[in-house]
Amino acid sequence: MFYPIGTVKPVASKKKKSTKASTAGGAAARITELRELILRHNQAYYGNDAPEISDVEYDDLVRELASLEDANPDLVSAESPTRTVAGATVTTFAPVTHAIPMTSLDNAMDEDELRAWGERIARGLEGEAAHFVCELKIDGLAISIRYEKGELAQAATRGDGRVGEDVTANIATIAAVPKQLIVKEGDVPAVLEVRGEVYMPIAAFEKLRAAKEAENAGRIAAGRKPEPVPANPRNAGAGSLRQKNPAITAQRELSFWAYQLGDTRGVPQFESHKDTLDYLASLGFPVNPAIGRVETFSDVVEFCHRWRDSRDSLGYEIDGAVVKVDSLAQRERLGFTSRAPRWAIAFKFPPEERTTLLRNIQISVGRTGRVTPFAILEPVFVGGSTVGMATLHNRAQVAAKDVRPGDTVTVRKAGDVIPEVVGPVPGKRPKNCPPWNFPDTCPCPLATELVQVEGEADTRCVEPTCPYQRDQRIIYFASRGGMDIEGLGERTVFALSDAGFVEDAGDIYSVTEEQLLQIEGFGKVSAQKLLAGIDSSRHRPLPKLLTALGIKHLGPAASESLSVAFGSLDAIAAASVDDLASVDGVGGVIAESINSWFAKSVNKELIGKLRDAGVDFGNVERTSLPQVLVGKAVVITGTLEGFSREEAEAAIKQRGGKSPGSVSAKTYAVVVGAEPGASKLTKAESLGVPVLDEAGFKALLEMGELPA
Ligand code: NAD
Repeated sequence: MFYPIGTVKPVASKKKKSTKASTAGGAAARITELRELILRHNQAYYGNDAPEISDVEYDDLVRELASLEDANPDLVSAESPTRTVAGATVTTFAPVTHAIPMTSLDNAMDEDELRAWGERIARGLEGEAAHFVCELKIDGLAISIRYEKGELAQAATRGDGRVGEDVTANIATIAAVPKQLIVKEGDVPAVLEVRGEVYMPIAAFEKLRAAKEAENAGRIAAGRKPEPVPANPRNAGAGSLRQKNPAITAQRELSFWAYQLGDTRGVPQFESHKDTLDYLASLGFPVNPAIGRVETFSDVVEFCHRWRDSRDSLGYEIDGAVVKVDSLAQRERLGFTSRAPRWAIAFKFPPEERTTLLRNIQISVGRTGRVTPFAILEPVFVGGSTVGMATLHNRAQVAAKDVRPGDTVTVRKAGDVIPEVVGPVPGKRPKNCPPWNFPDTCPCPLATELVQVEGEADTRCVEPTCPYQRDQRIIYFASRGGMDIEGLGERTVFALSDAGFVEDAGDIYSVTEEQLLQIEGFGKVSAQKLLAGIDSSRHRPLPKLLTALGIKHLGPAASESLSVAFGSLDAIAAASVDDLASVDGVGGVIAESINSWFAKSVNKELIGKLRDAGVDFGNVERTSLPQVLVGKAVVITGTLEGFSREEAEAAIKQRGGKSPGSVSAKTYAVVVGAEPGASKLTKAESLGVPVLDEAGFKALLEMGELPA
């Protein structure tokens, strides 16, 4: 099936898209797909405390579904994730039915959406003025704690909003949660349910992460599989609370903020939300000091922006601000949707930036001799993980940003993007903080002079025997894109190289168990496991081997074409520049580079070692498929059901086509699977490149043309 551009497409967007032009069948299929996808991610997030995608990506899926449902009212279902409170199947703990359901919150992604909510409130109240209470949106786990006759009686998670999990014993271990209400005799409420957020402070998270990493180092040394390390305080907090053994929860230093009353009996009559919060504080509950009552909508906007800009001043994570109508009578009039109150909105913050101390700037040397400066930072928690190092790209960038050791710098990280130093914080530079000068020599023991090639941004070490380059070449050879040798990571390569056991990638195959046992962290089991990984890499397909050699300019795509064209490493090594350059996707620069690489004696020696080690030089799948995609570039994004990414790319190449990693004006089509990359889709849209789903892709493989 072929999606015309600008209609049904899973593109990340904060505005609702017009979906009118989509066919009913296409919309129905996509709606089903989105619902399944969202439920799967709910289970990973709420059930396993281990999300597989970022919150931003998740929110995009929900918004796409909401806009499709808006455009296709006949496809709306009461069971849809847009109309229910998200949760996971309750399995671990006893179920607790909430006396009053625990709802979710609707979101505003920017000021426009926040103001649109303000207008909806004004309309809902028929013009009557409203006051608001602004709160921080704590990134933790919602909890309902029930007190009977002033004593903690039961605590439950939100679950699906109706039924949660009984975590009473675990909640009782949290110091910030009162076990008994502070209240005069006679005023003790018969029932009081408090709702709030359990969270893990950043300091406690850092401690837990460090302990888990140390534990894993021990596991690896003993040849055991490392356990997952929680990615952020939210997941760590949720995982810690949902422990079968409360003694573990007790060690995790969780905390709690109260923000709402639930079911009550025998409490005073209140008129406003702010009064209920003051009451909760008087009973001994921690109520966040940032909470404020405001009278105008500009103050609401100011609160949201202020906390967006100063969220890193807190010792815990917040992912937004929550704005609530203050008057309880007005709330009554506004009511609820099936999943959230109409009287509240969550203003979500964008991906984060944080400031931290730049301790030092150092340079690293890559396998081709390219020198990259990087910042060593006072570790800082940003964008979901702790960052201690960040790239500064090249000499010109350091100069342009004028970052200096001792500066306070801004660090940015969104999702899994490499952390980056944005620049120094103005006004925070200490006195006597000289500019940082790019070193003149390689940091390796040979200390060779570095070279800045004219017209190139990169600075290079051009010494062929540089041990730092050599180690990086071995790491690259063993990496996933190359020979994919499990267990042979950076640390082990450095250790083998320092011990003098390997000097090039060919030596990997003669490493012995005895040698490995001399390396710190290796035991008999882990040594044998690594040797097995090395052994099985002997049979990797030729394109992998060719890529693993790390020849300048030669990437996986050209390696694939050369392997198909020549059939063996020896034939490629013997080919002339012209023959190499005639292969589709290779060209003169790569051909020259390959030719001169094979001519060098050190590389001849390496090839000799690989041959002696029994590495397969001719593992190429021959294809007799019709060459219907010659000259066509097809980009894949997202996960397909019937093909792994490698299989999809191979299917294109086996038919003579190319499968580049990015979209350009020359791209013939973009194939979209589940959870696609937003940038590829946006680019396809702006360039007018056709977008295909999996069925359309299959048709393309068969016919070589876009399906009608
Ligand atoms: P939500 O997190 O957007 O808002 C509701 C929750 O906010 C409440 O249940 C409560 O726990 C919390 N909250 C924090 N401070 C509050 C305050 N002061 N007042 C009231 N509530 C407060 O909605 P949700 O349904 O809990 O979760 C949806 C969000 O969870 C998504 O937007 C996404 O960010 C994340 N999520 C991510 C994945 C993933 O795979 N990455 C999966 C599911 C959900």
